[in-house]
Amino acid sequence: MPIYEYRCSDCGSITTEFVQGFKDPEGLTCRVCGSSRLKRMISRVNSISSQEERLESYNPLARHDDSFYRDTRNIGLHAEYMLKKAGVKPPDDFKAKLEKVRTDPSSVIKDYKG
Ligand SMILES: [Zn+2]
Repeated sequence: MPIYEYRCSDCGSITTEFVQGFKDPEGLTCRVCGSSRLKRMISRVNSISSQEERLESYNPLARHDDSFYRDTRNIGLHAEYMLKKAGVKPPDDFKAKLEKVRTDPSSVIKDYKG
């Protein structure tokens, strides 16, 4: 089921919704102010920026709870962080592997088992 994000035209906050099909759900309202003037955001652009934000806000010294490790989008975040800190641009191959493991972890496990 696709997830869409809607920006409220009144207060600017983001509401995330699971959407069945491609139609916006009826009666959708802003979770913050209750306004119904919501605009769907382009999810692809949004998912890229949130991954960058994730890296930006990553703290290597923080204790992470189970939910952090269960979130596949956090796989390789530490390696990415360390490379960035060292001023090393990750090779495209590295990024492609990360992308794969984050979106479909089971396929990578299969690869390792041969
Ligand atoms: Zn609002």
